[in-house]
Amino acid sequence: MNPEEVFNLESKVYANTFRRLPVAVVRGKGMYCYGINGEEYLDLFSGIAVNALGHCHPKMIEELIRQSNKLIHTSNWTYTLPQLELAELLTKTTGLEKAFFSNSGSEAVETAVKLARKVTGKKEIIAAENAFHGRTMGSLSLTWSRKYREKFEPLVPGMKFVKYNDAKAVEDAIGEDTAAVILEPVQNEAGIIIPSKGYLKEVRKITEKKGVLLILDEAATGFGRTGKMFGFQHENIKPDILCLAKALGGGLPIGATLLRKGLDFEKGEHGSTFGGNPLVCATAKTVVEVIMEERLAENAGKVGRYLLDRLLYRNLKARGIGLMVGLDVEDGRETVLKLIEKNILTIYSGSTVRILPPLIMEEEHADRLLEALDEI
Ligand SMILES: *Cc1c(COP(=O)(O)O)cnc(C)c1O
Repeated sequence: MNPEEVFNLESKVYANTFRRLPVAVVRGKGMYCYGINGEEYLDLFSGIAVNALGHCHPKMIEELIRQSNKLIHTSNWTYTLPQLELAELLTKTTGLEKAFFSNSGSEAVETAVKLARKVTGKKEIIAAENAFHGRTMGSLSLTWSRKYREKFEPLVPGMKFVKYNDAKAVEDAIGEDTAAVILEPVQNEAGIIIPSKGYLKEVRKITEKKGVLLILDEAATGFGRTGKMFGFQHENIKPDILCLAKALGGGLPIGATLLRKGLDFEKGEHGSTFGGNPLVCATAKTVVEVIMEERLAENAGKVGRYLLDRLLYRNLKARGIGLMVGLDVEDGRETVLKLIEKNILTIYSGSTVRILPPLIMEEEHADRLLEALDEI
């Protein structure tokens, strides 16, 4: 098949949900993806901040093959060790007490919302303007964008939005029936919006004072993306509930909801058929171990800084933290398409190009992007 044939097939057989980029990818290795005609792309969005180790990292593949030869799935009717080992690793690295596994970021958020309502007996959840928490009905109810919500109303009631990066707005919004506040440490979908230093710390203080749970949605910021293992570590705080996804599975679908001491479900209140299956958990554990062993958070901080400095030096409108960089342009899609002509893959939100590369990125890859930007 040539690319045109692939695009035509997609429009015939696949639901009309994605405004895709005109690239048909057939394989990947490290920082690179290869198209159907063998053309090579430098991958600077890593499947929306998912392939933290790049494509087909040998240690991840080795574990994936090892575990698939052993056991793939039995459901949560039985005990399986990879799930518990991953839970142990994540509780240790986050400082939270327990984990629940699902299959996506949206589900990690659903779990958090259900738990928050259940343990507090209250209904209201406060989210931020421009937030993105997912596409399922519950998580969509906490997602700000009109265009994602409008046609699907009525959504789950009891959700309220306040200005992002404004701790006072959170304080003012908290009422008698507030169960939790949910925030992204950096807003990803919104176009890499980084709050002021101290914002999360202030919200943590307020929620503690008012006896309201703080849910952090680190689906995108988790596992080294921002230069630290988790976004909340920049502010020396701890959430009550932590939602993780994207990079955790290195490309396999998984969501995780971490709970602090004292918060838990009762048996039978929540569940999942696939969630926490041995194949995904064993592989995810290896992914997290490699991120730590290879100090990829540190690398993200270093290479992210290198890239951001050079974007700013060019007087471009850029901002970033670690390897989460937003570049404001006139038309995001147009710039992304021009970069594809230079064999570089990025994504966009509106007028912002989003650079979310594998955490194994090196300075030379940043140089290639800078050169391409200079040319276009
Ligand atoms: C991607 C993302 C989600 C949704 O994850 P899915 O796996 O697409 O359901 C939720 N919250 C944040 C912050 C995300 O970046």
